[in-house]
Amino acid sequence: MTIVRWAPSPTGRIHLGNARPALLNWFFARRSGGKYVLRMDDTDLVRSTRESADSIEVDLAWLSVIPDLLVRQSERTALYDAARARLVADGRLYPCYETADELDRRRARARALGKPPIYDRAALKLTDQDRARLEAEGRKPHWRFKLDGRLVQFEDLIKGPQTVNTASMSDPVLIREDGSYLYTLPSVVDDIDLAITHVIRGEDHVSNTGTQIEIIEALGGSVPVFAHHNLLTDAQGQGFSKRLESQSISDFRDEGYEPLAIAIMASITGTSLPIETYASLDEIAEKLDFLMISHGPARFNSVELDNLNARLLHAMSYDQALPRLTSLGLEGEAIWLSLRDNLTKFGDIVDLAKLVTGPIDPVIAEEDREFLALAKALLPAEPWTIDIWSEWTGALKAATGRKGKALFLPLRLALTGRHDGPELKSLLPLVGRMACLDRLP
Ligand code: GLU
Repeated sequence: MTIVRWAPSPTGRIHLGNARPALLNWFFARRSGGKYVLRMDDTDLVRSTRESADSIEVDLAWLSVIPDLLVRQSERTALYDAARARLVADGRLYPCYETADELDRRRARARALGKPPIYDRAALKLTDQDRARLEAEGRKPHWRFKLDGRLVQFEDLIKGPQTVNTASMSDPVLIREDGSYLYTLPSVVDDIDLAITHVIRGEDHVSNTGTQIEIIEALGGSVPVFAHHNLLTDAQGQGFSKRLESQSISDFRDEGYEPLAIAIMASITGTSLPIETYASLDEIAEKLDFLMISHGPARFNSVELDNLNARLLHAMSYDQALPRLTSLGLEGEAIWLSLRDNLTKFGDIVDLAKLVTGPIDPVIAEEDREFLALAKALLPAEPWTIDIWSEWTGALKAATGRKGKALFLPLRLALTGRHDGPELKSLLPLVGRMACLDRLP
């Protein structure tokens, strides 16, 4: 059974860059009939909030991603404590007493000597007496994982074969001085405990993967398959960031974008699949093979989003639109079919529907008055079908010799008060003869 997880830190509203792994994990789970775990990485008690966690659930549901299981790391400390005890007993986790300043100085010294600024493992040489003395001075230890220092290899589902040399890395700090856990240990412990088979996440985690594989092995867990995707950036190539107040998923929702448009942009940008309309996330799940994900950055383009949003609406069936039309009091298949091609956002339909129901402000140029009076006289009798427009304009063309813009634009301006908008052919039968007479001078 495939089990994936998406593991956001609930420290703010999620943005497009967060939605990417959320969706790529979802596609993978759907494609393989597997399970999807939503894991709140909320061990950072200062920055994590329940409000953010709740908003993540709402945003995810809006995108149509429905997790099979929700876990919160803040409720799983006992598991991390057990792993900690095991690593300490095995000599893989050791206490260190250096202050941040001391570490800075050592790094600077190493650099000055042309050596890599790697932690020198001085703490491993401390005796029990040294430690007792430091603790008596009031120092509290932070804890580092003792790396094997080897070439850790793994086959990445997106990036292909990867090698991380843990000999070129400092032993990572897993536990802070105040006893709180940094991201790494809880993440690894949960991946083991929840039997995660595939870890799908941003490529900023590739080097962490080397460390994590070593910790998983030290804890006797089985190593999942990894897939590291390119990161989504804004049009300028900057990463999205919660702290920089990048536009959040909820901002897009408030602006009236379709969730599917946002999901397509967040997941398909930076892949070889075309950005076009898809019926559902399941269709994307079937089509988006991880090998299609490019190795370069994925640049989000807001113009493409607007175009896509419009195209999704233009292709939307009446049945799909009906619940929202009902809530706006705008039922009627003919209205929907006539207006949908002019929508960029669904909410545009409220204004467009006024073209049917009125009132509108007819725009009538002085030089067209006579022409429009004739048009009024030639307006065919009811019943009106879709052919009324060509019948009427055909008669007007014959009577006046006008054609093209000179023929159509004055009619449009008088009947709708606008230069552009839905096809008059489909609009006219909806407006009806009486209302058309009213709008013509
Ligand atoms: N909370 C981590 C992050 O948002 C999760 C990374 C992971 O998937 O392991 O970067």
